[in-house]
Amino acid sequence: RAYLDRIETLNPLLNAFISLDRDKTLAEARAADARRAAGSAGPLTGVPLAHKDLFCQQGWKTSCGSRMLDNFVSPYDAHVVEQCKAAGMVTLGRTNMDEFAMGSSNENSWYGPVKNPWDVNAIPGGSSGGSAVAVAARLTPVATATDTGGSIRQPASHCGITGLKPTYGVVSRYGMVAFASSLDQGGVVAQTAEDCALMLNVMAGFDKRDSTSVERAAEDYARDLARPLAGLKVGLPREYFAEGLSPEVARVVEAAVAELKKQGATVVDVSLPNTALSIPSYYVIAPAEASSNLSRYDGVRYGHRAAEYADLVDMYEKTRAEGFGAEVKRRIMVGTYVLSHGYYDAYYIKAQKIRRLIANDFVEAFKSCDVILGPVAPTAAFDLGSMNNDPVEMYLSDIYTLSVNLAGLPGMSVPAGFAANGRPIGLQLIGNYFGEARLLNVAHQFQ
Ligand code: GLN
Repeated sequence: RAYLDRIETLNPLLNAFISLDRDKTLAEARAADARRAAGSAGPLTGVPLAHKDLFCQQGWKTSCGSRMLDNFVSPYDAHVVEQCKAAGMVTLGRTNMDEFAMGSSNENSWYGPVKNPWDVNAIPGGSSGGSAVAVAARLTPVATATDTGGSIRQPASHCGITGLKPTYGVVSRYGMVAFASSLDQGGVVAQTAEDCALMLNVMAGFDKRDSTSVERAAEDYARDLARPLAGLKVGLPREYFAEGLSPEVARVVEAAVAELKKQGATVVDVSLPNTALSIPSYYVIAPAEASSNLSRYDGVRYGHRAAEYADLVDMYEKTRAEGFGAEVKRRIMVGTYVLSHGYYDAYYIKAQKIRRLIANDFVEAFKSCDVILGPVAPTAAFDLGSMNNDPVEMYLSDIYTLSVNLAGLPGMSVPAGFAANGRPIGLQLIGNYFGEARLLNVAHQFQ
């Protein structure tokens, strides 16, 4: 009730939630109470959470931030939602996001922009802006989120909270509305690395309904939290500390390095030579996959349908013209273009080859270090509305986050400092495949 009351007071200002349902939330809370009384509570039973509005949840609108799905009430639960329910967690509501998770500022939502609680003139970051703001403003202790090219780490950084994007395949994508399937990965935003670890324990696990779900033994992601950092080898990629990084972000990252050294870590210089190519390859691969995934929104099966139309093709056209926003249309056009006959080899195949080079860069780098450390974004949160006319400028701000998704690695953002204007700055930690426990350990010791 305390969380619901706080949401009621602050959400009109912050716009972090798309859907709330007090009765449903209280019913879940009572069920958690009963479970506790019966002695069958797990570690997170009764803990409230918010779900990003792209995890299908039975009986809740699952809009994905789009007019296209504004009338869609999910008939089933995503794997992540099932796991949280099974743990006895209580749903506070569904969080705002960039439409179909496309964006870095949460200004692309059909439900309007989300405001950063540190400064309501600043963007919260995106696409999981609603989840990050809900945690930062203490509207929920934890929230689910997804990261296709930075959408957990970048809003976590801009909102001064902790975010974890697991290794691709650790969290099932079943019931997660698809943007770019080979890059999409569910994860969590929370106050601390410890809370992220407890959440990952609930969210992770093999699921045969997702063909890319990885089958491996269950782990306790909190097991290494207390481990001292003595002997840790931290890699600093020289390409991340070059032109384009704002001096205040550089200063915060350098201070973080000093802190880790103080705790006994050693620093090694590493190179990720194909970093600059992550933007062009991501912005070919992600739109290509999006153009295919979003072809299902045809006005026939579910979602928005235009009210008036002449024939079937006219119905498709009007439905998609009305249902999708400008950024989504831009991606569908780019994606269709790069996949089209005659351009496929020149763009899509080339982007896939670069993707392999980027992944190989990390394999090489991890031969000499345990974790890689760098900035999350080139600057602290920018002003709302300041990039609206320049999509490419916005894409460029994803430079430090995209490679992690292209390679399928785990990554975190941890609060590390502030810009001169008081806006938070996060530190990015990148782990080796399935290195979540070590990553959470470093984040926890840093915090
Ligand atoms: N900013 C990137 C994009 O717009 C990443 C978004 C995401 O991770 N969902 O595609």
